[in-house]
Amino acid sequence: MDPRKLILAGFERALPYIKTPDGKPMPDWIFMKLQEPERLLEGRIVIPIDDGTNATFLYYRSQHNTWCGPAKGGIRYHPDVNQEEVIFLSMGMTAKTAVIGLPFGGGKGGIAPRYNNLTPERTTFLRDYFPKKMSALVSERLTREYTEKIAPIIGPEKDIPAPDVYTNAQVMAWIMDEYSKIVGYTCPAVVTGKPIVLGGSLGRHEATARGTFFVTMAALNHLGIDDEDHSVVVQGYGNAGCIAAKLFYDAGFKIIGISDSKGGIYNLKGLNPHKVELHKIKSGSVINYPDSDLIDNEELLELRCSILLPAALENVITKDNAPRIKAKIIAEPANGPTTIEADDILYERGIFRIPDILANAGGVTVSYFEWVQNMERLDWTEDEVNARLKNKLVNAFNRVLTESVANKVSMGVAAYIHAGKRLTAAGMLRG
Ligand code: NAD
Repeated sequence: MDPRKLILAGFERALPYIKTPDGKPMPDWIFMKLQEPERLLEGRIVIPIDDGTNATFLYYRSQHNTWCGPAKGGIRYHPDVNQEEVIFLSMGMTAKTAVIGLPFGGGKGGIAPRYNNLTPERTTFLRDYFPKKMSALVSERLTREYTEKIAPIIGPEKDIPAPDVYTNAQVMAWIMDEYSKIVGYTCPAVVTGKPIVLGGSLGRHEATARGTFFVTMAALNHLGIDDEDHSVVVQGYGNAGCIAAKLFYDAGFKIIGISDSKGGIYNLKGLNPHKVELHKIKSGSVINYPDSDLIDNEELLELRCSILLPAALENVITKDNAPRIKAKIIAEPANGPTTIEADDILYERGIFRIPDILANAGGVTVSYFEWVQNMERLDWTEDEVNARLKNKLVNAFNRVLTESVANKVSMGVAAYIHAGKRLTAAGMLRG
């Protein structure tokens, strides 16, 4: 399956269990509305780029659903961004905000070069150039143009963008500045993921991994296995995977396997993820870390361990390898690492999977905290942010668990039942 369709398939699979507050089946018009975005803006931007030529970029902003509050979701700069991808990503944000119970809906935006009618050489050049080789000057120019185009539909009460693939705190600062110029006052709450000095939140950088940690602890507690010497395997050693490995290690867990795009390492006696990070910074990869053996990414997923954290790509746990997975718990920092067929197999095998829309929702939850602080002119400490994050995620975990137990379905199905019920109630009340 196209991984982008996973969210839609998630809702479809949960449909028989999604009931209205008075116990009736979800009305068909609710699902009809959830299948497409409420609003989609797209157009073109023409700007001078670093080689002295002009280039055309296509930009998008999809507001999938705003029944529970303003749309919320990142902005992606990537050569392959297209309208369909942005729509499905915004649908994923609707599911994520609904499962946590945030007063937000789902949105997503993105920019890619326009390739129509270009020579093959020019296409290759632009694909290589955008966004990795684009200078800060051109990135700022593009971001300010994009902000001007989407300004009519974004805002602290309408749609609040955030960083995503190849966008960062600096890009958010430019959006905030351009939007503030348009509305005539400084408006930090229009974006999240900003630099701290401009109203960013403490704890935002680690939030995704910390959220994964909190829900995994809740799962260990639920399964009654929280007092063993737990081993952890991490696939992907970027922002999500590396921070997660360090959080688990610092809490006393044994990290036995780590991988990145170049391969994996393992040591059953345990690896120190802080030192592995330094090794990766120095050498460009986790492989060849002293005191470890090499393992490929497929084998790594099948290591016997307590907790498996897929933190890299989509579609890595499939019907083919699910029968061989030996973890007790799978918690997903990555988006879409497990296919629907694999989820069924894991559930039958008694492997407890905490699905992506719950396990990696720490990032959007702290984004919500950033927005609250901006709206209220507050300044929370990191401890305060982390305590609130724990509270939100453990509550959401418990509500999903209740659905899982009551309906005798996997946590993967239950997360969509819970999100679907909330959206159904909100949609019906609004009419
Ligand atoms: P990143 O780019 O910082 O790190 C990705 C890591 O995956 C890198 O270490 C890379 O080497 C590794 N990788 C790539 N291909 C691989 C392969 N074939 N096998 C093993 N490892 C491979 O990205 P990130 O921000 O850590 O995001 C990782 C995943 O988590 C993505 O699915 C992303 O959508 C999801 N996610 C991240 C956040 C966040 O706040 N960073 C929030 C929600 C979801």
